[in-house]
Amino acid sequence: MDKVFKIGNREFVLDQDKAEAAYQAKRVINGYKSMAFNLLPLKYQWAYDLYRTMKANHWEPEDIQMQKDIEQWRSNDITQNERWIIMMGIGYFSAAEGIVGDNIQHVVRELVTAPELKLVLGRHAHEENIHADSLLYMISSLGINPHECEALFEQIPSIVKKNEFVTRTSHSLRRDLDLTTVENQRLLAKNCFVFGQCMEGTQFYGLFGMILSLARQQKFVGIGQMFQYTLRDESNHIEVFRNLFMDLIEENPDIWTPEFRQELVDTMREAVALEKEFIRDCLPVATVGLSSEEFEQYIDFVADKRLDGCGLPLLNPGVKNPLPWLAEQQDIKRETNFFEGRVTEYQKASSLLLGSDDDL
Ligand code: FE
Ligand code: MN
Repeated sequence: MDKVFKIGNREFVLDQDKAEAAYQAKRVINGYKSMAFNLLPLKYQWAYDLYRTMKANHWEPEDIQMQKDIEQWRSNDITQNERWIIMMGIGYFSAAEGIVGDNIQHVVRELVTAPELKLVLGRHAHEENIHADSLLYMISSLGINPHECEALFEQIPSIVKKNEFVTRTSHSLRRDLDLTTVENQRLLAKNCFVFGQCMEGTQFYGLFGMILSLARQQKFVGIGQMFQYTLRDESNHIEVFRNLFMDLIEENPDIWTPEFRQELVDTMREAVALEKEFIRDCLPVATVGLSSEEFEQYIDFVADKRLDGCGLPLLNPGVKNPLPWLAEQQDIKRETNFFEGRVTEYQKASSLLLGSDDDL
């Protein structure tokens, strides 16, 4: 018997028995493995939807004008502290984007079995490439010595510690991990939590806040625009890994013991402590409009949002967001003069071909 499947405004007629068998065989892990990218019928609709959203947000570093930033970088209008924040931003993210991309390509995308999960993870990895490329664009525009940036992530103890915190859960999990044991399933779940919620979800937000705060004062607006685009991408990455984590646990409920939940909360506590140390390194003295106390509280607020999203208990219940303007920045579409042209262009092109995301 035939059955019509709809994805957006595209229709597919599939044999019902075959479609149901294919659907049943799809699992986050230990499912049917095929060399063909057999997306139909979709089981993880969220993965396909996020793939479409991410594609519509496509941007390229060269879309952004750097002339004003270059003039400011060379001028005396900028303090040493402000310059230091930019250096820390470029230094930390140059390493971090690569670590995230490596973990997706060599750990998570290798271990999941459903094709639509591989689809969205492929896009995720590509966005990390765009972010890494945007940092090269900043380095070359400002004339920064690349070795100076490299030295930052090798020598600043708070950056070294943040990087060690995440690579500890990725280096041991390479492609041949046996996922039939619950211990290893737990390692993968923890990896998804560490990368999606602790790193991209929490430890990226100190610098996002500081750099966007500078841009708000008209300092380094080109770099600010790139970080705003990056922040929008990261919001989707956090959702990719949160959904992956939730579905992995739903399909493998033995993972979810009280001890494991406690381990995750403790891991987030460690992530928050490392991020606060890093924030204090970025803001050694008070800088106009930037107080390390406010950014530290912001991290507490963000971390609890991530824990809540994963159904875990909070570290600081009731903590307020001390930087409400930053929350508004996350929805880039509301920004009127913010490089609308190019984004709209990509969105238009995709909706002409495939129908808008609203149809999905
Ligand atoms: Fe990124
Ligand atoms: Mn990311």
